[in-house]
Amino acid sequence: MAEHRTIAPNEDPVCGMTVDAAEARKKGLARDHEGREFVFCGKGCYLEFGDDPVTFLAEGYVAQM
Ligand SMILES: [Zn+2]
Repeated sequence: MAEHRTIAPNEDPVCGMTVDAAEARKKGLARDHEGREFVFCGKGCYLEFGDDPVTFLAEGYVAQM
């Protein structure tokens, strides 16, 4: 399994926002990657992550809006 930075279960890995995981699941803004779930604040972050998850999980990536 690839090394990646620590991301809280309720943290949007793209922008760093804290997300209500239950809400995100309801809205279809949660997705599985390498066996764990990530949640997103909105469609934009969800799609960006889907395009290139490796970038957003890399050790040097700084989540920002
Ligand atoms: Zn976001």
